[in-house]
Amino acid sequence: MGTPSQPVAIGSTTLPERSPGLLVYLCGVGTTALVVVLVQALNASGFNAMGLYANGILPVGAILVGVLSGLGYAIGSRVLNVKLSKSFVWWMIATGVADWFALQYFEYASILEQYHASPAALGFFDYLTETATSMSFSRAGSSSAGAALGKAGYLFKGLELGGFAIGTMVPSWTLFAMPYCRRCRLYLKADSVAGVYSAATHAEVMKLDRMSMKKPARTAALAAAQAEVQQRAAQVLAQIERAPLAEVRAALHGLGAAPSRKDKPAAQVTFAVKKCPRCDSHHVVATLNTYAVNGKIATGKVATVDKTEGFSEPPAASISV
Ligand SMILES: [Zn+2]
Repeated sequence: MGTPSQPVAIGSTTLPERSPGLLVYLCGVGTTALVVVLVQALNASGFNAMGLYANGILPVGAILVGVLSGLGYAIGSRVLNVKLSKSFVWWMIATGVADWFALQYFEYASILEQYHASPAALGFFDYLTETATSMSFSRAGSSSAGAALGKAGYLFKGLELGGFAIGTMVPSWTLFAMPYCRRCRLYLKADSVAGVYSAATHAEVMKLDRMSMKKPARTAALAAAQAEVQQRAAQVLAQIERAPLAEVRAALHGLGAAPSRKDKPAAQVTFAVKKCPRCDSHHVVATLNTYAVNGKIATGKVATVDKTEGFSEPPAASISV
């Protein structure tokens, strides 16, 4: 679950051993329990949230219910600064599947209660088979149900289960992409933003070839502006690639201020720096922001410089935990 079994030594201090994996898991189980209660309440009022489909095939209801129940994993790992491991994802999927069966079971139990039936009269798995094959679609806003789906109902129950399990993982996906300092076990925070800007402005370039269909001059001007910033960005990247954080900040600060809104450049490369709140681990993403010939905004990733693993020297020994 992403928790090293050995304490991590930093300088003369040691980060205490913790097992945040379990806490994060409990956060996910907590939001799931809340969602189960909510879905039950909706069911009681006649709205089957899990059975909502778009275009008759996409289980949007199940996905949304899954997303809601998966929020706890994402919030828990962000707040507790835990990087979710690959194996944790399997736990999430397995839990998602178990939760889906739990939801079905609660529905089953409430139906037994409603009809004062005993479990001997209708077993849980008989109930699942029965609901799958007798499933039918009704149009939104219409009260008449369509014909029973028969065996095709299994497919839709499967889609519902799959949609729910995948939805559970969606909130955590955003966290996988976030840079993380493994040594301090902290997510990086935004530090500074700087950029290199083309001499040609957006207004100048868009004035070119106004009357022509093919716009050769505008195409050439945009390409030149993009090449100009890409080349300067490559120089900046070469400079900061191996440099410690202080030099990275100085180099980016030296690039100067952004042009005014009126003089929007035709192309620019933006450097966004994120840094570990505790040590000098950092992460720089360089992005190209420019325009297409038709004037639409265009962006592209130029480079990512990740210095969060074994790059910076150990921080000062005066860490208070
Ligand atoms: Zn750190």
